[in-house]
Amino acid sequence: MSGSAPVTGRFAPTPSGRLHLGNLLCCLLAYLSARSKGGRFLLRIEDLDVPRCPKRLSDQCIEDLRFLGFDWDEAPLYQSERTEIYRRYLEELRALGLVYPCFCTRAQLHAAIAPNLGDREPVYSRACAALTEEEIALRQRTRSPAIRMRVPDEAFAFEDGHFGPVCENLARDCGDYIIRRSDGLFGYQLAVVIDDALSGVSEIVRGRDILFSTPRQIHLQKTLGFEPPAYYHIPLLMDSQGRRLAKRDKDLDLTALSRHMTPEQILGMLAFSAGIIPENRPASLDELTRVFCWENVKREDILLAYP
Ligand SMILES: [Zn+2]
Repeated sequence: MSGSAPVTGRFAPTPSGRLHLGNLLCCLLAYLSARSKGGRFLLRIEDLDVPRCPKRLSDQCIEDLRFLGFDWDEAPLYQSERTEIYRRYLEELRALGLVYPCFCTRAQLHAAIAPNLGDREPVYSRACAALTEEEIALRQRTRSPAIRMRVPDEAFAFEDGHFGPVCENLARDCGDYIIRRSDGLFGYQLAVVIDDALSGVSEIVRGRDILFSTPRQIHLQKTLGFEPPAYYHIPLLMDSQGRRLAKRDKDLDLTALSRHMTPEQILGMLAFSAGIIPENRPASLDELTRVFCWENVKREDILLAYP
């Protein structure tokens, strides 16, 4: 990373529902990490799956963030408006011979894999990795393919800013992954890597549940000639029963919370739960920015502490 460039952080929600406290913790840490270094902060709406992410929900998401006092330095980016850009980079990967069409059906993919490991996706069998031009042309008549990225069979290591060293073998642990779905939708990894690079994002704060997908992002960044940003993966936020917070927990979304809590109470509760402040009390973003440091942020799963 170049020494003088300002730190640029971002929050990139998928507006397929109302933001919940787990999303907000991620936003809070991304914001505090960037702002505490005097850096910039950006907002990107990951609404590639347009039917699942209607404008009404992205508007609501922005309203929720403003309610809590978050601000950002540029107009929010909407992934749904950027498919031409993703297409261009996909062509670049195609020209490098790094992608191939995959005609496997969901049933074929499921039949070919061993039982899944937790959050991780199954490793693709490479059934379509060596199809000839003729075979591709033949199959294309009846089925539109997904596009997969070829990954190298080598160990891939990086240093996470919060979790320390991470290493995986892309071919063995991840496999050739989809960068455009068969319905034409661009894959998450490709869109995210392009958007972060073109927006000058230099640090990424995100949930530990997607830590395993980071090596493929770094591989993609290097392949496309982008400078990899710093990564900070954060622990998951759990409810009082030790269950991971998710969109299904309607009582913990902002509609419910804002009925009986002020923005400062919500921020203070999250900051205390994560270890940023020593007691559970209302706190403003300015105050939290002044006291924030990564060493205080917990490394194990975070239990939400109600005031
Ligand atoms: Zn296939």
